[in-house]
Amino acid sequence: MSAERIVIVGGGPAGQAAAAAYRDAGGDGSVAILAREPDPPYERPPLTKDFLRGESGREALPLVDAAWYQEHGVDLRTDAEVAEVDLGRADVWTVGGEAVAFDRLLLATGADPIVPPIPGADGPAVQTVRRIGDSERLGEIGAGDAVLVVGSGFIGCEAAASLAMRGAAVTIASLEEAPQAKRLGPEVAAEIAGWLEGLGVEILPEAELDSIRPAGDRSARARFADGEERVADRILLALGVERNDGLAAAIGLPVEDGVQVGPTMESADPRLLAAGDVAFAFNTTAGRRLRVEHWGEALNMGEIAGKTMAGKEAAWDVAPGFWSVIGVHTLKFVGWGDGHDESRFEPGEEGAFACWYGKAGELVGVVSHLDDAAYERGRDLIEERAPWS
Ligand SMILES: Cc1cc2nc3c(=O)[nH]c(=O)nc-3n(C[C@H](O)[C@H](O)[C@H](O)COP(=O)(O)OP(=O)(O)OC[C@H]3O[C@@H](n4cnc5c(N)ncnc54)[C@H](O)[C@@H]3O)c2cc1C
Repeated sequence: MSAERIVIVGGGPAGQAAAAAYRDAGGDGSVAILAREPDPPYERPPLTKDFLRGESGREALPLVDAAWYQEHGVDLRTDAEVAEVDLGRADVWTVGGEAVAFDRLLLATGADPIVPPIPGADGPAVQTVRRIGDSERLGEIGAGDAVLVVGSGFIGCEAAASLAMRGAAVTIASLEEAPQAKRLGPEVAAEIAGWLEGLGVEILPEAELDSIRPAGDRSARARFADGEERVADRILLALGVERNDGLAAAIGLPVEDGVQVGPTMESADPRLLAAGDVAFAFNTTAGRRLRVEHWGEALNMGEIAGKTMAGKEAAWDVAPGFWSVIGVHTLKFVGWGDGHDESRFEPGEEGAFACWYGKAGELVGVVSHLDDAAYERGRDLIEERAPWS
């Protein structure tokens, strides 16, 4: 057994899962997690769901209780942003000027919301949502306040639904004709649109944000490329994320859609690993690298990295899956997530449905609502690389 120094940059699910798996696999080296945020690793999914609706509180968010870190010999340092990796000296430097030496370094730095380079995007009534504080700020929106959500991906749809359930007057601007039409197909997009409209959310289709200007003391006026305008008390930008891959790029690791790593989460330099949203990891069953931004996969990839660092065999071979809760409706998706060229929508009873996706003659994904059997069967078939039929 080695007495290696394990340093994990990033206090999200991938980083926490890696530390836990390293210890569970018998790793007896020192483990430090250097985390930029003030809070210990916590659940992000509730930030646009029950936490935003006020149905759960801060106490439900931590991934593990505070004592876990000490009990497992994990040195968690919050408010510790890593500014630089020095490969020659094999240490990392925090913004505060502290050096931490490593034998193996896991980059689990995740991703941050995209803020488009348009006028007014940094205005006081404009925000994104990634952290607890962002969700708390959104939660200040009162009943009757006007909210504009820009972007109709899962984060945008979830936030729009939750804010409408809190009584806000919500408009969601989508680049598409209906939310997620390209990703999930027209039938599923129509279902999502129906759920949002059922909560009173106005959908602005094919709306490309052009600029934002102040409107009065605390409101903002958004202007779209077609000239349409909306005034809102709060504008939530939900335009996707960009990977925090700057540290990796600075030390010359290949960065394309994320830090390129193999199925063990190791990069070409075995001292350096990456896992979670920041990684562009090779999935052995898919036979290619996949870009994923899913909670469960951050945990999976972190666990694999932890086992790898402890000298155990582990490889990423499962079909990635995620879920989304839009109001009271849960969608579950499993698949490779890198596009489809055909789809088949199967409506069920009482609003249930499944939609199957194929690409180049192979089944590559399934999304289900109230149909877990389709989700489970889909996972098996996708992992078998079953033909499209
Ligand atoms: C509001 C919201 C709802 C979501 N809902 C779902 C859902 O329902 N289902 C689902 O599957 N997924 C969901 N996701 C996505 C999921 O949360 C992410 O895929 C997951 O958090 C990725 O984990 P990670 O550990 O890779 O990165 P992160 O969770 O982003 O954690 C990375 C951490 O590293 C820190 N960091 C970055 N750079 C540095 C540095 N230089 N030094 C130190 N620390 C650094 C960051 O501040 C961050 O705390 C949601 C995300 C959000 C924001």
